[in-house]
Parts: sequence; structure tokens; C-alpha cells
Amino acid sequence: MILTVTLNPSIDSIYFTDTFVLGEMNRCNNPIKAIGGKGINAGRTAAILGGDVTTTGVLAGINGKFIQAELEQEPFKSAFFPISGESRNAVTVMDQEKNQTEIVELGPEITDTTAKKIIDTVIDFSFKQKEAPVIALCGSANTKNEHLYQDYLQQLQDQLGPTVKILTDISGKQLQNVVNGTIKPYFIKPNIHEFAELVNRPLTSKQDVIEQLNHPLLVGIPFILVSCGGEGAVAKYHERIFDVGIPAIDIINPTGSGDATVGGVAFAIDQGLSIEETLRYGMACGMSNALEQAVGYVSVEIVDTLKHNIVIHEIEQMFHV
Ligand code: ATP
Repeated sequence: MILTVTLNPSIDSIYFTDTFVLGEMNRCNNPIKAIGGKGINAGRTAAILGGDVTTTGVLAGINGKFIQAELEQEPFKSAFFPISGESRNAVTVMDQEKNQTEIVELGPEITDTTAKKIIDTVIDFSFKQKEAPVIALCGSANTKNEHLYQDYLQQLQDQLGPTVKILTDISGKQLQNVVNGTIKPYFIKPNIHEFAELVNRPLTSKQDVIEQLNHPLLVGIPFILVSCGGEGAVAKYHERIFDVGIPAIDIINPTGSGDATVGGVAFAIDQGLSIEETLRYGMACGMSNALEQAVGYVSVEIVDTLKHNIVIHEIEQMFHV
């Protein structure tokens, strides 16, 4: 059982343009409009793979009503509740060179009252399951509380016990505070840029990332996956470090590949698969998403094929930070 939490769902519009010129009229004849938010995308991926998935979070205003209606068509169960304000729009312009320009609204504020309601919902839901679910806390939140996710980890562990597996796909201050907190998440998935910000060093290659995986900040987090776009990923699982290579593919739209990776990882963890198989699922889902125009979608057939082409190389550690 997997539960994903999305504090800032969105309506994602993607405009494909032949040319995109700032300050000029740019026409587009094949827009895509879909619901998004990291937890929704990750949940969809895990559900497509066959996972038993519920998503929760908050919805606001007219956009929230649109998202709610779309959620009813999804392959997962959803339990969102309304708050005031307006759920956000996120606009991506994809030009001929596959450059992505994004405009993303802030979204409705998560007040302390809303934050409490969300965590109470997650805890109530978890208690109703036969076994504690794998919980994925995903994405940004418009909140004044920079320790929101850290607080959530504390409350989840207090209520559900130390064995609860909490996955986080967050960045910036929230991620920093989570890794610095006493209660550690089971899994984090920064991309290389988010990881560079976390360890406060410029990182441009997988080798740079590997050298930071023993950073003292990361002690106590069992599973760290640093995704590196078309280069694959680097992972640390307990004391083991892996260079995860992927084949070159002709991508269509890589937006949401990180979310799909988290969905694949959540599915594999929920199924109790090995670390190697978990990494294969994560990578294959990220790639399958990049082969679709839509955001946060994967194909089971493509994932099954791609999984065999992931090259996992365990690195012998000869350095200590
Ligand atoms: P997003 O924020 O758009 O969800 P991200 O920055 O968190 O993405 P990435 O590192 O870009 O995550 O991608 C996650 C995974 O998706 C990669 O590890 C890889 O498996 C796959 N992927 C992403 N981009 C490409 C690409 N250009 N070619 C092949 N695979 C890709």
C-alpha cells in the first residue's frame, strides 16, 4: 500500500512551439493540459505499475474543482480536501530545441491549521491499513513553516513507529531541514542540482556526486538517490554506493521524470524488491515518462523493456569525507 501526499497540486499546461521568442506572439496548436504535482505523478506511476495507491493533499478554488474531476479518472484512489485560495497553474513552453521554459504559480498557502489537517489525515489513513503504508511526501508547499516536512517526519514516526518508510521528494530549505532533523526519511531523491544545493558544492558530474555521498549531512538516511537526467543516477543504499547507467533514448518530454522515478521506487519498496531491482524500476520509470508527451505517465511494457537495459555498477568505497 502506497500513500502519496501532494501539498501543491497543479494544472500543468504544456505548449509545444516551433520557435519561442521572448516578447513576441508565440503560437502553439497542440497544448496539453493535465493535472500535476509530484505526489500525484508519483502515485499515478506506482498505480500504473500495479501498486495499491492512494493520494492525498489539498485542493482550492476553481482549479481545485478541475483537479478533483480529473482525479476521478486516475488509476489511484484519492482523498483530497478543500482549502481556501486557488490551486496553482504551471505552464511549460517546450520549443523545437526541447528547451523548457516554465512559469509556475506559488499555490494556496498551507497554514498551520491546514498542515495539521493533512498530517492527521495521513495518520488516520495509515492506522486504517493492515500494514503501515509506504508514505511519499512530495513537492513544494507554499508555507511559512520551513520545517513543515521535518515536523511531518517527527509526527509520522511518533504515531506510526520507527519502521514506517517515509519517502521524500522535496528540495531547498525543506530538504535541508529534513536531513538536519533527528528523524530521518527512509529515502530522498534530489536531482543533481538539488543535491549540489544541499551539500553546498558545485557538482557537474556523477563522479562529483559519488564523492559527496558520504557527506556527514546524509548520515542516517538509508536510501539516497541522486537523479542525473539523461546520465541516469547515483545511489547510496545503507553503506553501498551505486552508479546507475541508462541507455540513450530520444526523449519527447522529460518533465516529471523525477516524479515517475519516485513512483517506480515507491512501487518497488512496497513490493519488497531488492535494491538493484528498485533502482531499475526508478530509472525505467523516469525514462518511460521522458518518452511520453504527457507528464507523470509511464507504460508498463516500456518500463519492463527498459529495466533490462539499466546498468548498475556497485562502487568500492575508497574514500571517506
Ligand atoms: P522532474 O523535476 O522533471 O520530475 P528531476 O530533475 O527530478 O525531474 P531527472 O534527474 O531529470 O529528475 O530525471 C529522473 C530520471 O528520469 C533519470 O534518472 C532518468 O532515469 C530519467 N531521465 C530524465 N531525463 C532523461 C533523459 N534526457 N534521457 C533519459 N532518461 C532521462
